[in-house]
This record gives sequence, structure tokens and C-alpha cells, in this order.
Amino acid sequence: MTTLTERYTEVSERLRDAERLAARSAGSVRLLAVSKRHPATAIRAYYAMGQREFGESYLQEALDKQQDLEDLAIVWHFIGPIQSNKTRDIAAHFDWVHGVDRLKVAERLSAQRPAELPPLNICIQVNTSGETSKAGVAPTECAALAVAVASLPRLRLRGLMTIPAPETDPQRQRLPFRLLRELLEELVRDGLELDTLSMGMSDDLEAAIAEGATLVRIGTALFGQRE
Ligand SMILES: *Cc1c(COP(=O)(O)O)cnc(C)c1O
Repeated sequence: MTTLTERYTEVSERLRDAERLAARSAGSVRLLAVSKRHPATAIRAYYAMGQREFGESYLQEALDKQQDLEDLAIVWHFIGPIQSNKTRDIAAHFDWVHGVDRLKVAERLSAQRPAELPPLNICIQVNTSGETSKAGVAPTECAALAVAVASLPRLRLRGLMTIPAPETDPQRQRLPFRLLRELLEELVRDGLELDTLSMGMSDDLEAAIAEGATLVRIGTALFGQRE
């Protein structure tokens, strides 16, 4: 059985190797540990190894773990689909939200972000695979949504996020990531101050880093298969 320590070392090495191969500086890609469907004890173990950023997809499960882990200085990312009736809890209990793809949800998050907390960090989710995925704004509508989200007072738009359709060929894996990078570059040219490309998971982190990912979201490679 592979221990969590071994997995952490393995994933960290994959990140460093991919950074080197892409001629990017060491440590330029942040690791988000996706702990959904895994217990708080595993989060605690990775925290002890120095991991600070964790991603969760299911609100109630996340809130339960946050209670268990109250004593730790974790940066919490919400990466799941966002239902409108859940925005109040998401706005109050997370530092980052990656799945914003409609203005209405962004407006609710901004209105419901508690005054005593800093602005909520946001990544807009883009549908880079066309018909095959329903979540995410269409690439052609990304700029308009980004400008609108960036103007909301209690949000801080940080960048873009995507979950491409599954693809095993390493060269083809890069296409949606390239599209996301080009969209981000366009927004930056238009004057938005963005610094985050949230892309790459256990099976395609190398392709994502080659195309400029600044944050990879890794579940299975760190925690093993989910139930
Ligand atoms: C589950 C999940 C991940 C992690 O996927 P793995 O393939 O297990 O690394 C990343 N991003 C999102 C949005 C997820 O829902």
C-alpha cells in the first residue's frame, strides 16, 4: 500500500518535473489537494506535511470537515457545482470558488460574502470541450462574464478554471488548456488583473503545466480512489 507521504512526494516530483520541462520556475505551480470523499484525517495528515490548500466539491461534506479541522489554518477552495441556494454558506466558509459560470451566482456570492472577511477569490469556469460538458461558460461569453464579475465589490476575480472532457493522448490533452490560457491572456490584455489558471488534475497535470497552469487540482493521485 502506498502511504500518503509517498503519494505527496510523488505528486510534488511530478509538479517539479513538469515545471522544469516547461522551463517554468520551481514552485510556480500551486498544488490544490482535492479531498472530496476522503476523511478529515487524511487532510490533517497532508497538513502536517505542509499542504495548506484543500479543495472540496460537496458543501455539507466540506462544512463537516471544516468543523473537525477548525484548529488548522487551511485555505479552503470550493470546486463543485454551485446551486443558487447554497451560495450563502459557500460565501461564508471558503476562501476561493472555482466553478462560477453565471453572473447570478457571482452576484449572490458577492452580496453574501460576510463583511469581516476579505473579498472572495473567484475563478470563472469555462467550457473548453464544447458539447461534451455542460458546466462552464462558453469561450465566446467568457470576456463579458469576467468583466461583470470583476466589478462586483466583495469578489476578487483571479482567473479561469476548466475541467476538460477526458482525453488520454498527451498532445490532445493540451488543447483545452491552451484555449483557457489564450482566453486569460486576452482578458489581461483587456486590462483585468488576473493571475490564476486553475487547470490540470491527476491524469493531465503535465499537459496543464506545459500550457501555463498556475494551480493544479489533484485528488486521486494524493488520496487514492474515491468511494
Ligand atoms: C474531483 C475533482 C478534481 C480532482 O480530480 P482527480 O482526477 O481525482 O485528481 C479536480 N477538479 C475538480 C473540479 C474536481 O471535481
